[in-house]
Amino acid sequence: METVPLQEAHLRVLAEDIAADRDLPPFHRSVRDGFAVRAADLPGTLRIIGEVAAGAVFEGTVGRGEAVEIMTGAPRPDGADCVVMVEHCTVSGQNVTTDKSLTPGTHIAPRGCEALQGAPLLPAGTRIEYPAIALLASTGHPTVLVYRKPRIAILATGNEIVEVDQTPLAHQIRNSNAQSLAAQVSRAGGEPVILPIAPDTLEATRALIEQGLEADMLLLSGGVSAGKYDFVEPAFAELGAEFFFDRVKIQPGQPLVFGRARDKFFFGLPGNPASTMVTFEIFARAAIELLSGATDAPLHLTLAKLTQPFRHKTGLTRFLPATVRCTEVTPVVWQGSGDVPSLCRGNAYLVADSETPEYATGDLIPVLLK
Ligand code: AMP
Ligand code: MG
Repeated sequence: METVPLQEAHLRVLAEDIAADRDLPPFHRSVRDGFAVRAADLPGTLRIIGEVAAGAVFEGTVGRGEAVEIMTGAPRPDGADCVVMVEHCTVSGQNVTTDKSLTPGTHIAPRGCEALQGAPLLPAGTRIEYPAIALLASTGHPTVLVYRKPRIAILATGNEIVEVDQTPLAHQIRNSNAQSLAAQVSRAGGEPVILPIAPDTLEATRALIEQGLEADMLLLSGGVSAGKYDFVEPAFAELGAEFFFDRVKIQPGQPLVFGRARDKFFFGLPGNPASTMVTFEIFARAAIELLSGATDAPLHLTLAKLTQPFRHKTGLTRFLPATVRCTEVTPVVWQGSGDVPSLCRGNAYLVADSETPEYATGDLIPVLLK
């Protein structure tokens, strides 16, 4: 755990329970500009006996036939029980006239209606989104106790992979996975630690895995398929790893591996960039959020209406790049799991059901927002 300034607390996970330090709102607050009056006097003409702005207090009492001009955010004067909006009033000299009838309480947020002093507001384990920042500020927390970020090691494998600042030969590929994973790890609340690329040998893969297992969790990309030079699983097996699964019925990302070695969880993510990104979002993101101390890590799935017919081969659940605009979704044309340019054109993945081969325009389909 560590204490951070409120301005650095966004998206961290709370390590303390936050309660209301006083009633919210702390006074009967006007939520409109207008006149504080007694509902029983309406409609009618009332005598203006003063005003109260936000940040001020009206010292007197509103009596029968009287009104106090009031601004949004000001405390309700004693005696008044509602606020008639300025738009519904006509002022003439010291008098205000309205033809409105209001019930007591209208346009007043009563003291404590949002939370009573001492009421729990944010439990430890809450990921601090921006509304929570407002709540922490309004309850007087210039600093916040949060959980330490888990360190997530990232290990790309592959003889064909070179670092981003190197000039690849014609048959080589730059290491994009380590970079996209680092971004995804940061977004999930982890601290990415990028390891050197593991060449496709059992010894090198094993040595770098051992290094990666010093972090809180290890993510690998590539080397988990059935190829002759896919050494991730054999290397983990040599380390006595426990495998929870090594295949999932999704595409992209079928050969995904999840296990534990030396008391650390690891994911062997398939190396195709889309597979790496999708399997991270579906599986690893939740693991990192939970390791960060979050009590809940749901997938942000929602339903959207297809703008065009869509078909796919049954048997696997597919996560395909798509563009969501308002409540509609359009699949992005793409060339398969290696196609990063197309991935960049979408802002979501549509989730095609493994048993539904055809969708019509207007059908609702789940989408995973990026
Ligand atoms: P693999 O899962 O190792 O069989 O790799 C599948 C495909 O993903 C291959 O075409 C690899 O070249 C590509 N690939 C693997 N690792 C990376 C990486 N770190 N960055 C970009 N592409 C990769
Ligand atoms: Mg490979």
